[in-house]
Amino acid sequence: MKNICDIVQDLLPLYLDGICSEGSCEFVEEHISECEKCSGTLSKLKNTEYDKEIIDEKEKVIQYTYKKTKQRTFLAGGVIAGILMIPVVICLIVNLATGHALNWFFIVLTSLMVTASLTVVPLMAADKKFLYTTLSFVAALLLLFGVCCIYTKGRWFFVASVSVLLGMATVILPILVQKYFPSGFWKRNKGLLVYCADTVLLLLLFLSIAVYLKSTGFLIIALKIAAVPVLSMWIMLLIIRYLRANKAVRTGVAMSFFGAFVLVINPLINYIIGYPEYLYFSSDNYINTIISLGLAAAGIIVMIAGAVIGKIIKNRKDQV
Ligand SMILES: [Zn+2]
Repeated sequence: MKNICDIVQDLLPLYLDGICSEGSCEFVEEHISECEKCSGTLSKLKNTEYDKEIIDEKEKVIQYTYKKTKQRTFLAGGVIAGILMIPVVICLIVNLATGHALNWFFIVLTSLMVTASLTVVPLMAADKKFLYTTLSFVAALLLLFGVCCIYTKGRWFFVASVSVLLGMATVILPILVQKYFPSGFWKRNKGLLVYCADTVLLLLLFLSIAVYLKSTGFLIIALKIAAVPVLSMWIMLLIIRYLRANKAVRTGVAMSFFGAFVLVINPLINYIIGYPEYLYFSSDNYINTIISLGLAAAGIIVMIAGAVIGKIIKNRKDQV
């Protein structure tokens, strides 16, 4: 009987697909009518077939809906792009007619490019919508700044552009790196990448202000003041991301460091700009002092607790 069962079970897939010979079909059916085990296998196989069909069908529906939605959003993007062309053409004609040349037309054109970057691009981009929207928005905005700067004969282009880039690097860059960077060194060190970009852009901002003011007199003192918070933020990154300790210890170290930072930031900056009489523990500074010392003390407690708990957990693991 066992041998017959094996033969029937081998035949079942062929039987289900309807490609058995007539004799084999009869043989299978006859056996199944009296063998519970083989009829059970047959119904299981049937269910799997149905599941497969349902999954295939679902996949088809998803693909169809995705394709349709894509076509519709692409069409909507095209329509918006078409609508945006109307003011472009009107302004082109009016600018030519009134000024016999093109000047403010370029401001209208680049403004509409900014609008298009936030409406047309996300609708029409096939993939990586967020990336392309961000890049086109920044490019269009810088172009608008450039055109306006030339139109007004100003020198503020670099100050405005670097400010925008610094803002984007702070807010948008972490999301872009998280979403689109292939796994690897920079994916694992997103914070480092963002901090590098922010620091470089901050330095560029100072330089562009110097270019705008046509003076470097302020630069040394400004860089000294900026160095205090920038260095502190770098140290915080190193503590939070790279200190080899458990989370509680890292939190404690970061809290203590931040407490010390609050304590020294005002006196230090006052010292840099030439008010050395601004003391750490003066009556002007006592609320600051209480907060910072409290934070530092709380940090030390968290740090010690974290270290002790970490040690206990490690001992237990070693025992196990
Ligand atoms: Zn059987």
